[in-house]
Amino acid sequence: MKSHQQQSSQAPTSPLSNSLQSTPANQDNPLSIQSRTVQTICPFCGVGCGMLLSCNEQGQVSGVSPLAHHPISQGKLCEKGWSSIYAISPDNRITQPLKRSRDGFVAVSWDEALSEISEALTEIIEEFGPNATGVISSARATNEDNYAAQKFARAVLGTNNIDHCARICHSPTVAGLKQVLGSGAMTNSAKDLFEAQVIVVIGADPTSNHSVLGGQIMRAKLEGAKLIVIDPRVTRLAKLADLHLQLNPGSNIALINAMMQVIISNQWHDKDFIANRCEGFEALKKQVENITPESVESITGIDSEQIRQAAQAYSQADRSMIFYGMGITQFVSGTSNVIALADLALICGQMGKSGSGINPLRGQNNVQGACDMGCLPNVYPGYQRVDDPAMQQRFSERWGCEVASSPGLTSLGMTKAALAGSSRAQILFGEDPVVTDPDQNHVREAYKSLDLLVVAELTMTETAKLADYILPAASFAEKSGTFTNCERRVQRINPAMSPLGESKADWQWLQALAEKMGSHALSWTNSEEVFDEMAALTPSYQGMTYTKLAEHDGLQWPCNESAPEGTAVLHQKTFPIGRARLTPVHYVPIAESTDEQYPLILTTNRLHFHYGCGSMTRKSPLLEREIPPGILFIHPQDADRLGIALYSPVGVRSRRGYIETRAMISTDVPPGVVSMPYHFKEAPSNQLTNTAQDPITKMPELKACAVAVEVLPAGHQPSAIWQLQGEETE
Ligand code: SF4
Repeated sequence: MKSHQQQSSQAPTSPLSNSLQSTPANQDNPLSIQSRTVQTICPFCGVGCGMLLSCNEQGQVSGVSPLAHHPISQGKLCEKGWSSIYAISPDNRITQPLKRSRDGFVAVSWDEALSEISEALTEIIEEFGPNATGVISSARATNEDNYAAQKFARAVLGTNNIDHCARICHSPTVAGLKQVLGSGAMTNSAKDLFEAQVIVVIGADPTSNHSVLGGQIMRAKLEGAKLIVIDPRVTRLAKLADLHLQLNPGSNIALINAMMQVIISNQWHDKDFIANRCEGFEALKKQVENITPESVESITGIDSEQIRQAAQAYSQADRSMIFYGMGITQFVSGTSNVIALADLALICGQMGKSGSGINPLRGQNNVQGACDMGCLPNVYPGYQRVDDPAMQQRFSERWGCEVASSPGLTSLGMTKAALAGSSRAQILFGEDPVVTDPDQNHVREAYKSLDLLVVAELTMTETAKLADYILPAASFAEKSGTFTNCERRVQRINPAMSPLGESKADWQWLQALAEKMGSHALSWTNSEEVFDEMAALTPSYQGMTYTKLAEHDGLQWPCNESAPEGTAVLHQKTFPIGRARLTPVHYVPIAESTDEQYPLILTTNRLHFHYGCGSMTRKSPLLEREIPPGILFIHPQDADRLGIALYSPVGVRSRRGYIETRAMISTDVPPGVVSMPYHFKEAPSNQLTNTAQDPITKMPELKACAVAVEVLPAGHQPSAIWQLQGEETE
């Protein structure tokens, strides 16, 4: 892991005592901070590495260093973590409220912005009802911000139209694992991977996207664990693996069902575990009994012998651990893919002990927390259902208001409703759906059609450009709160500097807006009060307080009376639903297959040096120099056939859009498949992607759509999307 010019030359030897001694009692008043070093958590991926921020005499963050004693990162950060101060630097930051005018955006006071937003929301609710409004919260924001967002939607606006980007990453995890296990989260702690004899990584590229964890998987492999990688792309881990099953995109269920057929027919399943802890085995057995490895070779593209080897290794090890990512969830079969993986783990008894379980790699720093906080249209905090009358009564009483009785719209549902004219106002923070959601033109049109779009952001994003009001958001280094990482660890973040300009934590401006609308529902004086209210209503967080979190380096939920120190491994004795529900699922092909006009399958990926929509990582010159803006990975056979050379300018077209970029010729993608990252607004892959959805969670099929690629004349500079669409500048 490399350092950069602004980092401290060495990590303090006793960072915990340093930060605890110097952190003031009032966490929401960073101006009173005297310390030079503040302990916090990396704002990028779901691994949640610990870091120290150093402040200079001007009260600005001037350096980053890793936290030596952190339970996961243990003194390491990846390049994104080291570069995190660029993400919050004053360059390009929005520092005061902005209002759209005929000539662009003009600065206004908070009072003016919130008064006008309040009036507009009130009018829309009076004319069209509460469900004409909605809130998109953020997996980058704190638990406190997210709790406030869903409460604002439910208790102030009066709607369950609340969602966030988990919709397009791990909503199938929440639904699928909840269905089979009763809980939609990573079952293990990250450190368990050093106890696993077999590690299966399926549909995930951890060395790029969860780099510190990816490095630990490499270390576990080098220390003796068997590594099986299942992925259409040849990832770094695939190159190191004992077995790489390079399956065709979208054929996960066919493969997993065939593995289960091999396991059951060879009597390798765990009969005691199934008898004591599961239901539904006979139906599952019947479903898979004829799905032999040979019968799925043509679907998966994998040799039957490889499937047998993987099935034997996984089932016969004492401890096997599955890690998976969006190569499982971002399909029309996303929820069924997750269910199939959970079935596989259960029939092998690979569950409920350290080094043995099923582990979704959550993408963004607080996507687990945003889900836990109830920023989903069908559940309150703690996954308590909004259509359960007992839960409605509980939240109505605690919040002192009537709550809506039916589930709300998903983020993509709100987009559709905006296009149909039934959604009139949206409030959105810390997300850039114009870049990250499928079918970009469709998303842009939806936002343009709203009567009111309010966006709170650090910098000007593609979505913010469409807003009526832009509110300045405080960054992770300017506020206190908590993030929940992918292993369910709730960790404190601490302010290292004052909010830039007039920026505020999201819960603070939501509170001020609620007051303008005549509601005192969000009347907290600091983030700790937000957390305490949330913990009292969220069974899995009930035993947590800010003090306990600081004392323990975070706590893993569930943390309550039965588990006051938190829970490192889920489902050790029982499942939240009693017995696990084995659930047979069928292979479903991808929604859009290739044809003569669109002969290649496009899949999306993320890059080691960038994160999400790029609005944070692309501010770092160190990260930006590593990779050209926009790139298409294409196999040499396809490149030869199309006359494409390395870095040739190419046009990529799907049934929904067209973009230009440059070609990277690589055997890391198989013939017939091309791959693009979605970090680059110049060449946004979501101009191309398909909105076909998983019927259960409405997850769009971002991992597969049909495209055509053409070489452009040598010397042609790929046009940015705004140029292709007739706009001179972005
Ligand atoms: Fe940050 Fe993730 Fe890198 Fe850790 S692995 S430093 S949390 S981006």
